Amino acid sequence: MSFQVFGLSISRGVAIGKAVLVASSRVDVAHYFIPDAQVPLEVARLCEARDAVGEELETLKRDLPADAPGELAALLDVHLMLLRDELLTGATICWISERHYNAEWALSAQLEVVARQFDEMEDAYLRERKADLEQVVERLLRALARGAAVPLAPPPAPASDGGDFGGEEPLVLIANDIAPADMLQFKRSVFTGFVTDVGGKTSHTAIVARSMDIPAVVGAREASRLIQQDDWVVIDGDAGVVIVDPSPIVLEEYRFRQRQIQLERERLARLRHTPAVTLDGERIDLLANIELPQDAPGALVAGAAGVGLFRSEFLFMNRGGALPSEDEQFEAYRAAVEAMQGLPVTIRTVDIGADKPIDRMTVGELRHAHTLNPALGLRAIRWSLSEPGMFRKQLRAILRASAFGKVRLLIPMLVHAGEIRQTFEAIARARRQLDDAGVPYGEVEVGAMIEVPAAALQMPLFLKHFDFVSIGTNDLIQYTLAIDRADEAVSHLYDVWHPAVLRLIADVIRQAREAGRGVSVCGEMAGDPACTELLLAMGLRSFSMHPSRIAAVKQRLLRADTRKLAPLLGQILDAESPEAMCAQLLRAEPGKTASRSLLTA
Ligand code: PEP
Ligand code: MG
Repeated sequence: MSFQVFGLSISRGVAIGKAVLVASSRVDVAHYFIPDAQVPLEVARLCEARDAVGEELETLKRDLPADAPGELAALLDVHLMLLRDELLTGATICWISERHYNAEWALSAQLEVVARQFDEMEDAYLRERKADLEQVVERLLRALARGAAVPLAPPPAPASDGGDFGGEEPLVLIANDIAPADMLQFKRSVFTGFVTDVGGKTSHTAIVARSMDIPAVVGAREASRLIQQDDWVVIDGDAGVVIVDPSPIVLEEYRFRQRQIQLERERLARLRHTPAVTLDGERIDLLANIELPQDAPGALVAGAAGVGLFRSEFLFMNRGGALPSEDEQFEAYRAAVEAMQGLPVTIRTVDIGADKPIDRMTVGELRHAHTLNPALGLRAIRWSLSEPGMFRKQLRAILRASAFGKVRLLIPMLVHAGEIRQTFEAIARARRQLDDAGVPYGEVEVGAMIEVPAAALQMPLFLKHFDFVSIGTNDLIQYTLAIDRADEAVSHLYDVWHPAVLRLIADVIRQAREAGRGVSVCGEMAGDPACTELLLAMGLRSFSMHPSRIAAVKQRLLRADTRKLAPLLGQILDAESPEAMCAQLLRAEPGKTASRSLLTA
């Protein structure tokens, strides 16, 4: 029976595919497709893990003290029975051989199926056996990790016929939540759309999903409970709606929309070589946000004038908690710099914390998680300054990459004068170390992210020390409005158009321009065409966004006249509802239509 699930639209378009469920309790296991030839090895891994857990349980049973309660032995028997039940291991093997899931994913998928069956049982005693099943799976996952022969590699790209990885049908991913690190694993995978139960529009999971440029809906609350494995699903990324088991008429309508969207994309792609210049001749820099050096070629193809934000923290993820060495980082930064062929690359120092833990297994050791309010905790530059050895390694790696092209260094989340001083001391020290070792590096401009209201309100301090500033609107909105950007429960209050937010942004841009310093916006707002004219009216001339957004923003600015927009700014900022005022003023101009903002609830 067809039904709909509602969530938040985070990237537009329509995806139609079969649901692949990632079990909610197991999102921290690796999920990737294995090639045909690896199926027997993967099955063998699973069987070895099963045998190892079997021995573990038998030993436990044998070594039970004589006075142990009888229930304990009975419980171990139940675990052994569950372990050897075909419903668990036999079916898991099917996931591996038929779907080409890696063993951990296959196990999680089967756990989800069986857990649902347990949930539906009438008998309370049997229902409670679900917890036992989860414990058995936990043991199996641990055994798999112990014998982990398979690295956390990114999933392979789909075979051209789609046959080797998960069959011919398009697949969409349904999960309770996907950590940014897991999202990265899916980045070059076969999925044509995503749905998650939790998450806000500018959560980092949403940002990585958006960078994949595939339709996605987050905050769909019950989606992973209501949608079943293999259900046919339509993801309407524009409306933030997921239609499960659609009727043939609905399906046909969406296929039609898919074709329209594709035509629109092709039309926009033709703008790639068109210079980004407004009607009145203002040159606008459209830069790219990237997560990995492998994203750089895509940025060039999209027509980016450089990289405005390289989120270096993604180099720190999916490494089992080990930090990347200076040389590894240097190679990654150099790869991005070389791929951009002389265009500037702005590398932001690591912004770990909040909704971007390095690795779930080691967060405790890295002292940045498990706090009550991680977004207000040891995040970004705060963490870097608390790990001086790690920070200097990263600074040296970035400086070294500057010998191969134009590199700009960007520091996230600065608030205090003391942090600014310590940061410059660390940079000076890293330069001295390279000098002493005779290692070459180039001229590097240093910039600050303005993403906390306290920074926006003391621009003279920042403009005195930094060559440029970049406004992180995602966090600036979060911290100005006291709205957790990753929490779907308050996502309706996360509002880029809030007058307080707009005033801060406008003031930062004005002061930076008056001081003759470079200023750009690198939050999601920069890539939202509904905000393009507003930012131009504020005087912004440098926008950094996901490469997939560049064409749509360029289309808007090609039709804009900054001489007409600037005088409207006062009216917009003074309005009780700046969004409505902006739409009204823009509609007043011929040829302009106000479109719905990606960042408004
Ligand atoms: C921002 O806060 O707007 C930003 C660009 O940084 P991030 O989204 O990585 O926090
Ligand atoms: Mg930020």
